[in-house]
Amino acid sequence: MDQRLKVGIVGATGMVGQRFVSLLEQHPWFQVVSVAASERSAGKAYSEAVANRWAMSTPVPPAIGRLTVANAAEVEAVSREVDFIFCAVDMPKEQTRELENSYARAGTPVVSNNSAHRSTPDVPMLLPEVNAEHLGVIESQMRRLGTRRGFIVVKPNCSIQSYVPALHALRGFRPKKVFVCTYQAISGAGKTFKDWPEMVDNVIPFIGGEEEKSENEPLKVWGKVKGGRIVPAKGPVITSQCIRVPATDGHLAAVFVAFEKKPARERVLELWGSYQGKPQALALPSAPRPFLKYFEEEDRPQIRLDRDFGGGMGITIGRLREDRLLDYRFVCLSHNTLRGAAGGAVLTAELLKAEGYLSGK
Ligand code: NAP
Repeated sequence: MDQRLKVGIVGATGMVGQRFVSLLEQHPWFQVVSVAASERSAGKAYSEAVANRWAMSTPVPPAIGRLTVANAAEVEAVSREVDFIFCAVDMPKEQTRELENSYARAGTPVVSNNSAHRSTPDVPMLLPEVNAEHLGVIESQMRRLGTRRGFIVVKPNCSIQSYVPALHALRGFRPKKVFVCTYQAISGAGKTFKDWPEMVDNVIPFIGGEEEKSENEPLKVWGKVKGGRIVPAKGPVITSQCIRVPATDGHLAAVFVAFEKKPARERVLELWGSYQGKPQALALPSAPRPFLKYFEEEDRPQIRLDRDFGGGMGITIGRLREDRLLDYRFVCLSHNTLRGAAGGAVLTAELLKAEGYLSGK
């Protein structure tokens, strides 16, 4: 008998949903048994629902292609089929929050890519290598929701996934000021060049809401658990500019940082080279090894060459040098729909299972 946990993907037809479908095809712990989306897709075979918009490089897995797409609003029906869900929907925030609460209240744990619950104090916003201890607030969240097995855990925004780990490895030197410019791929908007031709040969210096997320979300990730809530860290102060560039996948960040206590360059490289989080210690199936990789070549990391490092789950860093205004500057890269979205959520679910928060019904 298949011992894997049964999982549903809510928002399965979208860009992030498609990533979940392809990533989970051979997953050792999780088996996709349900795909759900809006009423526009509900009732169709999954392969038909994504026929004109499948954006992955591998074909639709046949077993999932044959599943009938459920209506995500039919929470009880989807919940009956699954042990937990991944959720990545493009809906107004208030509706997303309600949808996720409904699944949790129906006894279904939710691992979410959406921003709706990111600022809810008892909802962990997890970068599994950085703040695994935040899972400790789940118990008080379940008390608030009145559930026995349902809860919500979210992922942070894709823009912060490269520079937060790189800075986290250096937290001992207390970063105090961070300037960051992100150069973000079009899949971050759920798009391909086919459906966003304006992006060919173009750069757009605006991504709605992204700068606020880039500046604020790291503070929750670095927050402390107190009284069943996460209290955000007070610093460092982060200022950002987020720019859309004509790449399919991969978000690059150019970072400038000042520390309370400036580390030596060799020490920075040592800390990046040796950094391990809980996913590596627990040898979780999707944990990249190494998590952080520094390139000595001065023209790396590059989006096309390096976004798939560690199966798209590793962070690549380069160009560390002294800065004339702050202490150091460097460049870092992560894959936005793998580490930044579906892959990061799968790793979060693996951590939840390893720590006893997810189980079969
Ligand atoms: P997308 O490609 O536009 O897909 C949206 C999905 O939501 C589709 O499955 C769609 O179903 C479903 N949906 C829309 N309205 C719905 C409704 N009323 N009820 C139920 N399902 C509904 O968007 P995406 O890029 O995958 O992003 C999804 C979420 O992940 C967003 O919250 C986004 O901010 C977040 N995210 C994205 C990235 C990224 O790199 N793309 C990274 C991190 C986080 P239909 O096909 O039936 O319309």
